[in-house]
Amino acid sequence: MDNAPIRRILIVGGGSSGWLTALYLKRFLKAAPVEITLLESDAIGTIGVGEATIPSMVRYIRQLRIDEAEFMRRCSASYKLGIRFDNWHDGDHSYFHPFGVAGGMIDGVDLFHFWLRSQQDGAPDRPYSSYSLQARASDAHRAPRSIRQGSPIIDSGAYAFHLDAGKMADYLQELSVADGVRHVIARVAETEKDANGNLAAVLTEDGQRIPADLFIDCTGFASLLIEKSMGDPWVDLGHQLLCDRAVVLPRKRDRNMAPYTISAAQQAGWMWKIPLMHRMGSGLVYSSQHMTDTAAADFLLRDAGDSRLEGAEPRFLRMRVGRRSDFWRGNVIAIGLSAGFVEPLESTGLYFVHRALDLLRTFFPDRSFGAGSRRAFNRHMRESFDEVRDFIVLHYLLNGRNDTDFWRDARSVPLPDSLAQAMDSYHDNGLPDLPTEWVFRDTSYYFILSGNGRLPRRPTRRAELADPTRYLDILAKIDAQNARVLEDLPGHRAYLDWLEAQG
Ligand code: FAD
Repeated sequence: MDNAPIRRILIVGGGSSGWLTALYLKRFLKAAPVEITLLESDAIGTIGVGEATIPSMVRYIRQLRIDEAEFMRRCSASYKLGIRFDNWHDGDHSYFHPFGVAGGMIDGVDLFHFWLRSQQDGAPDRPYSSYSLQARASDAHRAPRSIRQGSPIIDSGAYAFHLDAGKMADYLQELSVADGVRHVIARVAETEKDANGNLAAVLTEDGQRIPADLFIDCTGFASLLIEKSMGDPWVDLGHQLLCDRAVVLPRKRDRNMAPYTISAAQQAGWMWKIPLMHRMGSGLVYSSQHMTDTAAADFLLRDAGDSRLEGAEPRFLRMRVGRRSDFWRGNVIAIGLSAGFVEPLESTGLYFVHRALDLLRTFFPDRSFGAGSRRAFNRHMRESFDEVRDFIVLHYLLNGRNDTDFWRDARSVPLPDSLAQAMDSYHDNGLPDLPTEWVFRDTSYYFILSGNGRLPRRPTRRAELADPTRYLDILAKIDAQNARVLEDLPGHRAYLDWLEAQG
């Protein structure tokens, strides 16, 4: 068996996932003599969306020692503290899913249970999310950093960015090439295998043969290497998530920039609004069984009205909802849309890339490509996709719209067993039964469940037994503490203006 280290890595695809991968691997492997090449076709475009992130993006740029201010300027980024969900019920209804926790733990128990008890005991009506600093900063349109100190006031685990995906890919390309990543523009026509069935080389239309030890498939929905060459089957999740189309239309920038994404439910899907430094991203995600492309584009154009960016036309995207059966086969690893896609309701596209990169770093192979590492990587990636699928299905399951078939159909999909189990346990004792390594933990479930009015029968016993004077005092102190921090946070717009002026 060949235990020699990997010497040549070929990444095929130059979208967000290709360049995030190139820079990550280059910096992680800087002490090793590894040649990294990124190959992309200029005839096949990138998907060009992917503008909202979760805090894994902040972790990524810190791991790679990228300066946050420079990153934001180069990507025309703004801050994101959470997502506001509008109209997911009949009538005028809104709820918020902020990053981070709401006030933290009290005696090791999520504040949710004390909030629930206070509500059941007759305290003034207020949402659980009102204890979240991010939710309050969002309401007040504040940035998570102080201009005076320059450092984040809201902890790094609990904010993210809205960014221009095209600009991000350009910036990461520049950094990767400066670090020594070889960039080749050519279109892959064929692949060549070795005697073991592993990939030996790709052959391009212009006659190049590019060999490598390890291949990373970042070819987007085409899944050129993992599926077409290595034959990995696609696991379709379309029966649980009905939206399979999107139409995108950029808008003029909104000076009054909210530090959060808006997801507004519509007839047969939902519309996103993502404020960037230089424009507003917007798009409609919908089900082709319930809405035609023309109706979707008409809706988006009407909604945009005068705010439509000059010259911008609606752009349609087909979404293949599902994931790989195996993300790593032989010496080929799929990262990005080639690995899987779950609709962007919780902005998890780039998170899956970060997750795959962290796992690849943990299970980095040698040339024996041992089955043990591969199996572990595949299991973790499967679980990541399935947990996000569960969390997205939860949003639809709880919807309270009765105006169209889409919303009725969306809450009647077959529930994944794991989600059914989490819901049973939540209903019983207020604790959704979730594995500890999931990205969306109990607190996120509480925001979505309580935001949709779905409360358990009772709080957990430990909160029921708590001394009311003491826990009400702690809740009041959390409010006061949040108010104090809020005073130190600058306006989001003011912060971004200041940031641009520093560049
Ligand atoms: P692509 O951008 O499709 O890139 C594929 C690359 O492969 C291209 O460079 C192409 O040239 C190359 N290629 C293909 N075939 C060949 C060939 N034969 N030879 C050579 N090169 C080839 N994610 C988020 O994190 N947040 C969001 O808010 C978000 N919103 C989204 C909204 C929509 C509607 C959709 C569809 C996705 C969204 N995503 C979001 C997901 C995000 O866009 C993707 O995860 C991300 O852009 C990564 O795409 P990619 O690089 O894998 O593929």
